[in-house]
Amino acid sequence: MTYHGFKGIRRWLKGSMLKRMHRMITCKEFEDFVQRYLDGGLTDLQRSLFERHMRVCRECREYLAAYQRTMELGRAVLPSSDEPVPDDVPEDLIRAIIDARKQ
Ligand SMILES: [Zn+2]
Repeated sequence: MTYHGFKGIRRWLKGSMLKRMHRMITCKEFEDFVQRYLDGGLTDLQRSLFERHMRVCRECREYLAAYQRTMELGRAVLPSSDEPVPDDVPEDLIRAIIDARKQ
């Protein structure tokens, strides 16, 4: 093995070690975790990965904030799914909230 090749392998090993130590989830995975994060349904590992991603990714922080606002709006309009929907709530809004919940 040449000296150069050896260095290459060392660099590769270091890279894969760093990757493992600083495990990151993607923005797509972040989105998948949001609902469970808010429900407290993530494992400790998933939650720490989620929070780590949130610290480094501004877009996902904004996504989470928007998601929470939508949920709060949903709760304000529809306090519980058992209660009848008030007549004065526009149907479009209700549909938007239901769609947001489904995602
Ligand atoms: Zn992100």
